[in-house]
Amino acid sequence: MQDSMKVCTGNFGKHAQSIDAYKKLGGYSTISKSLFEMSQFEVIDRVQRAGLRGRGGAGFPTGMKWSFVPRNTGKPVYIVVNADEGEGGTYKDHFLLLEDPHRLIEGLIIAGWALGARTAYIYARGEFLPCIESVNKALNEAYAAGYLGENIMGTKFCFDIFVHRGAGAYICGEETALINSLEGQKGQPRLKPPFPAVAGAWASPTCVNNVETIMSLPWIFSHPVEEYTKMGTPRAHGTKVFCVSGDVKRPGLYEAPLGTPLMEMLTSEEYCQGIIGNLKGVIPGGSSCPPLLPEECQDATLDYECMASLKTMFGSGAIIVFNDTHNAVDILDVLGHFYSHESCGQCTPCREGTGFAKRVLDSIMRGEGHDGDIELLQGISAGFGGTTICPLSISLGGPLNVYTRKYRADFEEYIAKNPNHAEPRLRPTVRLGAYW
Ligand code: SF4
Repeated sequence: MQDSMKVCTGNFGKHAQSIDAYKKLGGYSTISKSLFEMSQFEVIDRVQRAGLRGRGGAGFPTGMKWSFVPRNTGKPVYIVVNADEGEGGTYKDHFLLLEDPHRLIEGLIIAGWALGARTAYIYARGEFLPCIESVNKALNEAYAAGYLGENIMGTKFCFDIFVHRGAGAYICGEETALINSLEGQKGQPRLKPPFPAVAGAWASPTCVNNVETIMSLPWIFSHPVEEYTKMGTPRAHGTKVFCVSGDVKRPGLYEAPLGTPLMEMLTSEEYCQGIIGNLKGVIPGGSSCPPLLPEECQDATLDYECMASLKTMFGSGAIIVFNDTHNAVDILDVLGHFYSHESCGQCTPCREGTGFAKRVLDSIMRGEGHDGDIELLQGISAGFGGTTICPLSISLGGPLNVYTRKYRADFEEYIAKNPNHAEPRLRPTVRLGAYW
């Protein structure tokens, strides 16, 4: 793919971190009088015509999300950039912040104008220290150049951006937990409604967008809309930044049009250059997404609709490839540990269920599994649906259900290692020490 058609990563490897370098590469060309002569409606309309969908996972249309934010409520409107990237396998935002921070700032100015916001926050994962330094340096340069602060470009538009460091909780990537954390409260998800668009940060209208979503805006506003819509699929326009890891010859970050065949991403010279060993499965969008079997990968395309039709999720574009040297029990056990550790504890099914699943998986791994454990794990998964405040429980529930079905033989093999596997598993109230 030509650099000029890369919406978010076109400046990668070109040392675009400084404002001078970024401007030489065409940066800040959209921040001009002509932007501020557009009405908020016109800016949102352009984003809607481009068909930009949120790149954080849900794929909700960005322009529509912006249109839900009420104006003239007498309260300030906030924009929050969700840079709390923590899903297993995901690392795209990390590099976007590190390599091209001014593109994020430029995108935020466009979003700020569209939403009538005075203030934006970049909520960044606390461990992303080099990224935070990179963004803070870029912010200082943007203020000095007059792109931020009071009366930008001599207009009445005033806009400030602040970086807020998270403390490393995965759940703070959920937008309402993120807002709680931003406010200085415990990072726990809120019940919805009210939705953040109506009552978000400090009970004011708040729009939470992913890093990649905001970074798509400068390209969309500096090219004809048709240039953007001709990339991708009819229902998902533009490009996506994919981060590929696992058993491929060249793992890494690749920007490609939405709808790119999955096998092209994994095997072509341009991208991953081939799979190492015999393919056993592909997690298409981050650790919470159910895996695809090799036969399901053959015709799969990298877009929201195709992944939904295969009963998995497009997610954040984090593709994890595993070959037949890996055991599904090991993978699921890692997920059990991660999601049970990251449960915020508000909902009983999530707090207890993720921990219970982890302990059952641990016991299977230790060679203490029992016949019926597969159904037990599937039953735990079924208990999550519609019973919790946020989707973290389902982030483990989906994999629990799908790994045990698609890779049942792996589980049976582990369970058979227990000489007493045919005996029923004793309930924890009777034999706590067995797997508690
Ligand atoms: Fe917290 Fe889990 Fe409930 Fe989400 S589902 S609010 S992480 S306890």
